[in-house]
Amino acid sequence: MEVVRIRPRGYCHGVVEAIRLAKRVGAESDGKPVTMLGYLVHNEHATRELEEAGVRLVAESDRMKGLAQITEGTVIFTAHGISPQVVDAARERGLTIVDATCSDVTRTHDLVRELTARAVHVIYIGKRGHPEPAGVMGVAPDNTTLIESIEEADALEFAPGTRLAVTCQTTLSMWDTQAIIDRLTERFPEIEVHNEICRATQERQEAAVLAADDVDCVVVVGSRRSSNSRRLAQVVEELGHKPAFLVDTAAELRPEWFRGVRRVGVTSGASTPTQLTRAVVAALEAMPDAEEVTAPS
Ligand code: SF4
Repeated sequence: MEVVRIRPRGYCHGVVEAIRLAKRVGAESDGKPVTMLGYLVHNEHATRELEEAGVRLVAESDRMKGLAQITEGTVIFTAHGISPQVVDAARERGLTIVDATCSDVTRTHDLVRELTARAVHVIYIGKRGHPEPAGVMGVAPDNTTLIESIEEADALEFAPGTRLAVTCQTTLSMWDTQAIIDRLTERFPEIEVHNEICRATQERQEAAVLAADDVDCVVVVGSRRSSNSRRLAQVVEELGHKPAFLVDTAAELRPEWFRGVRRVGVTSGASTPTQLTRAVVAALEAMPDAEEVTAPS
């Protein structure tokens, strides 16, 4: 079986920077507690590595609740960004703050601030319960409406004369997001559009869909917690029209997925450590060829 390594894949600049920052803070802590508030990136292996580097995890998806568990030392905010309310609460608790928010997410926060200052109401496309939308919504809670779907876009009502803008979570599927934006533009022709899907997400999705043309199936290496990894599998199936298998490690590969498969593509989410992808590629290369698998016994 031929294994096609899809590029670009794996760690994005935001994750590389966040991990580098957290490891440095852990190494320089002089024994004082260092805690990351939520998964720094949505990957258990990367998280374990950080714990080994002296960075403890409070794995509470509600950041304010998680913060209540941190009584001293340094708190690290994750690449997903954080709401100003949580930042203020951390200051009030006397914690040292290290902010690993990705610059692409910070740009969305700045955009929401700027739109709010101009009295433009923000419609934000994102996933409820994900830390990135929670952080963005906190920038202007009374001036931002979160929606997830075309149905929710259809249900929106605003007072006549309300000025509107739409923006989105950085790690969504670019095609799903565009469909929602298109619907909003139909309903509210004057709406300002700010598509904030980050370049890393876009490039990985485009490469995976393009590669799907030339392979029989695609393996996506990434955690099920990782929004961008799940989206990669989704776009391969929905737009590349090929089966996609999301695995956290090589141990999850199932030989029956590859019966009759001659070429398999491999990609990985922006939060997936390189060594996990390498191990998956090696395991796939070690599988018997399609002819051997499918040969009658
Ligand atoms: S996926 Fe995009 S927004 Fe998220 S950390 Fe990576 S570069 Fe930043």
